[in-house]
Formats: sequence, structure tokens, C-alpha cells
Amino acid sequence: MCERMTKRDSYISDCGMRVPSSGTMKAATRARELEAQGRTIIKLGIGEPNFKTPQPIIDAAYKAMNEGKTGYTSSRGILPLREKIATIYSKETNVEINPHANVIVTPGAKASLFSALFSLINPGDNMILISPYWPSYQGIATFIGAKTKPVPAHYGDFEFPFESIKSAIDEQTKLLLVNSPCNPTGAIFEEDALRFIKDISEDYDIYIISDEIYKKITFESQYVSYLTVTETLDRTLIIDGLSKSHAMTGWRIGYSIGDKELISSMNRLQQNVSSCVNTPTQYAALTALDLTEPTKMMVAEYKKRRDKAFEFIEKSAYLSCRKPEGAFYLFIQYKGDICSDEFVSRVLEEKSVAVTAGTVFGVQENYFRLSLASKLEDILEGLKRIDDLLEKINK
Ligand code: PMP
Ligand code: GLU
Repeated sequence: MCERMTKRDSYISDCGMRVPSSGTMKAATRARELEAQGRTIIKLGIGEPNFKTPQPIIDAAYKAMNEGKTGYTSSRGILPLREKIATIYSKETNVEINPHANVIVTPGAKASLFSALFSLINPGDNMILISPYWPSYQGIATFIGAKTKPVPAHYGDFEFPFESIKSAIDEQTKLLLVNSPCNPTGAIFEEDALRFIKDISEDYDIYIISDEIYKKITFESQYVSYLTVTETLDRTLIIDGLSKSHAMTGWRIGYSIGDKELISSMNRLQQNVSSCVNTPTQYAALTALDLTEPTKMMVAEYKKRRDKAFEFIEKSAYLSCRKPEGAFYLFIQYKGDICSDEFVSRVLEEKSVAVTAGTVFGVQENYFRLSLASKLEDILEGLKRIDDLLEKINK
């Protein structure tokens, strides 16, 4: 046995050390800690629908369990579910999708993102993100050792940053990750933006990951999948899931549609990490994908909350916000000489309202994100308390 001269400082690997905690999850954890101490917190932080999973979905899982469908499934997911996903997307986009080769079901869209980035990126490669962005994109890339190049889109009227994306491309750029409707701004890409992304992919040989998890949550116009403009799965991965559209956050189910080689790599990873998504959840998802009414009801409710919150913001002397076309967040700018980390921490400690700092989404200016996935009374009371605090700060 060798004799060690020095003790390790830590047993955690470099990779493990590099991975940051999730900004959205961290903020939610602090709110829960305060609740455990007996405080009542208005929770407008995490993006989690405050609706129950629709009953037919729960019944389908229960039925599957009672029928003994409780063992491992194919690591790609049960075939009827992959077939349904392929049919829905093929119908909408006219792209041929083979359920055996082009679809994988994963434990949440997060797991899809992880295995896709792990499959595509080498340490040293870089990935372009449009900021503000959902923080796990950055977290996963950092874990892998990739660099990210955020391209800001929050100046002016949150216009799509065509030129800045082009200038951000260099020799190491492997992929561009886009998210529409966007968490946290609620912006939806127009068709010209989707076409531009496709051209970039072809001209510079860049892979595109399109995170479409909020696709069903739109208020005025409908979002069309990026696949509609690509007309092919080459260099393209679509990420989607049921957490938001069907209030299934805790079930852990998402999926990806992509080219055969990438899906196969993601599948090899899944075989070694989680084996498959839990079986009753997959049967529940099969039912969920046929249900459209509950999503419509939830979207109508989010729209009502957005509009009421907006009426408040328009009257405020300290708050401003671009009206989101989709998803269920408001990315709000505030006035005051205080950075967003300190601001949201004061909002929580002094006003018992949980929101998420703009820095979590890669934005240094004065922004915070408010989730509309809570009761309207809570949203309005939360905004009022935030406004009161800003009045004090701006005195
Ligand atoms: N993408 C975006 C933009 C998100 O906001 C989230 C958070 N739910 C996810 C992916 C991951 O969702 P899940 O893992 O719950 O399917
Ligand atoms: N996506 C949600 C959010 O942005 C849930 C938290 C998470 O998955 O990071 O708040």
C-alpha cells in the first residue's frame, strides 16, 4: 500500500466541484426553510404549476400499476408513447419521425438536456445561449467543462439578437441552445428568427437544441416548433415534456426528438444512469398527450394572472416589464440602487415574498423573475409588497 504524504482537501471530483447549484432551486429552498421556521411565504419563485395533475392522468398511472406494469421498460421509453410523440410532432411539422430511432423518453426535460449536452459537447467546446436563459443550460455545460457564450436579448424591446448571435460564433462553437417560449421572458420566436437559426446551423455547421417545454403555454399566438422550418432532423434536437403543459413536475417525464445518432448516444447514457423513466409515469403520459382541455384551462388562468399583474406593473413607479407572449413568468425590471441578489433577498426576508434574481438568468441589471404559477391573490399581494419595499429603497 502506498503511503500518502498529503491529505486530500476534498474527495469531490473536479467535475463535481464545478457544477453550480441550480439558481431556481436554491431560491425555492430558502423559501421552504423560512416556512419550516413558521413564516408564511408568498411563493412566486419556482416555476411550478399550482394545479393538480388532471385526474385521468393519475387514473392511468394507477391502472398501470394495478396491471403490474411496474418493471423496467425499454430505456428509450415504451413504444406506444414514442409512437404518440412521433405522430404528434410529425403531424405538426411534416417531418418524418421514426419512433424507434428518433425519440427518447427521459426523466424530465432536464434529463434530456443533460444527456444531449453530454453527448454533444467536449470540454473546451462552446455553446451559445441567448440571455436571459434558464440556468440549468449553463450549469450542465459548466459541469461538462464547456464554455458558454451568452448573447443578450434583454435590451430595447427584447428583440431577437440576430447580429450578436452571428458575431458570437467562433471555431469552438458547437451548438446554439434556444428556448421559445422563453423562461424567464415569455418571448416567442417569430418565423424569421427560426429561419435564421436554421441558416446559422447550415452555414456554420452548428447543432441546434430547441427547448420547447412551454410550447403549449401561449397567450395570443401559437408557437410552431423549430422542426417546422428545418424540415429535417439533421443537427437538430427538440426538447419537450409534460411538467408544465400537464402540471406533472414531480412525475419526472420529458422527451427528445432528434437524429438517430444523437438519440442513440443519449440512450446509451440513459441505460447507464436511470435505466428508464418510471413505468407508471410513462403510461400516465400516454393518456396526458391525448388531453388538451386541462392545458387550455391552465393557459386561460395564466393569461388572466398575466393581465392583472400587468395592470399593477403599469401603475407602479418602480416596475416595468415586457408583456410575455407565453410561458408563465414575468421578467420584471425595477428601479433602485440595489443589485438583484440583494433585492430578492430583502424581498424574502423583509416582505416574505419569494421571487428569483435576474442574475440567476445571466442578467446583471436590475431584474427579477416572478412566477405566474401561483394564485392570483398571492401574485397581486406579492407585487404590492415588492412595490412597498421599492418605495422605501428609492426614498
Ligand atoms: N427547460 C426549461 C426552459 C424549464 O423552465 C424547465 C423547468 N421545468 C425545464 C426545461 C425542465 O423541466 P422538467 O425537467 O421538469 O421536465
Ligand atoms: N423550470 C422551473 C423554474 O425555472 C423549475 C425549476 C427548475 O427546474 O430549475 O423555476
